[in-house]
Amino acid sequence: MDFAVPAELTALRESFASFLQREVRPLEERWAPTFAEPGSEGAARAAVDEVRQLSAAAGFYAPYLPESVGGQDLSVLGTTLLVEDAAASGMRLAMTAVAPPNPAGPSTLLLKLPEHLWPDYLIPVARAERTMCFALTEPEAGSDAQAIRTRAVRDGDSWVINGHKHYITNGADADFALVFALTDPQKRAAGGITAFVVPRDQYRVGKTQYNISDSHPAELFFDDARIPADHVVGTEGMGFLEAMAFLNAGRAYIGAQALGLAEFALSSSVAHAQARTAFGKPLAKFQGVSFPLARSKADIEAIRWLVYHLAWRVDTEGDPLAIMGDASIVKYSATEHAYEVADRAVQAMGGMGLMREGPVERVLRHLRMLRVVEGASEVQLLVIARTLGL
Ligand SMILES: Cc1cc2nc3c(=O)[nH]c(=O)nc-3n(C[C@H](O)[C@H](O)[C@H](O)COP(=O)(O)OP(=O)(O)OC[C@H]3O[C@@H](n4cnc5c(N)ncnc54)[C@H](O)[C@@H]3O)c2cc1C
Repeated sequence: MDFAVPAELTALRESFASFLQREVRPLEERWAPTFAEPGSEGAARAAVDEVRQLSAAAGFYAPYLPESVGGQDLSVLGTTLLVEDAAASGMRLAMTAVAPPNPAGPSTLLLKLPEHLWPDYLIPVARAERTMCFALTEPEAGSDAQAIRTRAVRDGDSWVINGHKHYITNGADADFALVFALTDPQKRAAGGITAFVVPRDQYRVGKTQYNISDSHPAELFFDDARIPADHVVGTEGMGFLEAMAFLNAGRAYIGAQALGLAEFALSSSVAHAQARTAFGKPLAKFQGVSFPLARSKADIEAIRWLVYHLAWRVDTEGDPLAIMGDASIVKYSATEHAYEVADRAVQAMGGMGLMREGPVERVLRHLRMLRVVEGASEVQLLVIARTLGL
């Protein structure tokens, strides 16, 4: 066993850290304080677009995509480390710089489109010229994603899609949607769900869905959306399995996001506990404050090695089904324990922990969201229980 991070990845992290401080920090200071406010979407979009373009020019954007389409062929471990560092920087805009392929980032699923469509979809998203969204969830189908009702029917040289998606990250701003629809209602998950790319002029965006996090997902309506027959992603009927394999392979990234946020929450609360005095001494000198933070440190190291190990397995084994149990353990443990770390950080910081102007309030809200999205904790426990034969 070799637990060392390869030297070239350490060098990459250093260069990414200086990019974040040099290019992203000024935008963060200027724009991010407004992001949580309803009606701030315009400002958020402008800042996010700028970070995307700066990052693409510097070679950090969607680095996991092949070089041939504009990425860097970076390993899952390399991308995981950049995602962790982006989250640990405490900057809301930093995650945009890496654009991990969790729902709204440039999806590796687009590599399954016919090659003649890459210049319209894959290559512009890899270059940060266009953006996409991942539209699976529906009002009647969240955890039980195979229960979707959106229907795609073949009509000559086209597919016609009807249905309603909700909670879609980047839904209002995307140039196209990766949409999962029923093509054979009898088969459903077993060969009856297909993934399509649907251009923006073929669907309607409904209401913005303000929530506990600063992201602004939206509803999408497909009313006789018509797309050419070749806009199928991967194999017809295999969309559900492809979505699950994609989400599985991405668990290291959501784990890394939770890890980085937990690191940021801990360092913020340690600094606060050292600087603030109560009852004649620094807060850090009271075990009631220092022990919870010590527990957080222990939790963070446990998350770290789970996340890195999963990234290493994806790189070395490649089979998303083989890593399913580990992937669920990472999603569950990283998000649940990182949330506890953030909660302890809030407590150690008292009123400042709860203030919008403080560093950790947003982290707690974001981590609360991560425990539900991309397969809630209970869904991960179902998968883990299955690995036990339960
Ligand atoms: C901010 C945000 C952004 C999102 N972005 C996207 C996106 O970009 N694309 C997309 O497709 N979706 C997106 N989603 C949807 C997200 O993935 C779903 O909300 C999530 O999968 C849970 O589904 P649900 O909300 O329908 O909850 P439900 O499925 O109704 O679950 C409710 C509760 O019941 C529990 N539960 C369900 N089934 C079981 C079971 N069998 N055993 C035990 N407990 C169970 C769940 O764990 C959960 O706690 C987003 C959601 C949010 C909030």
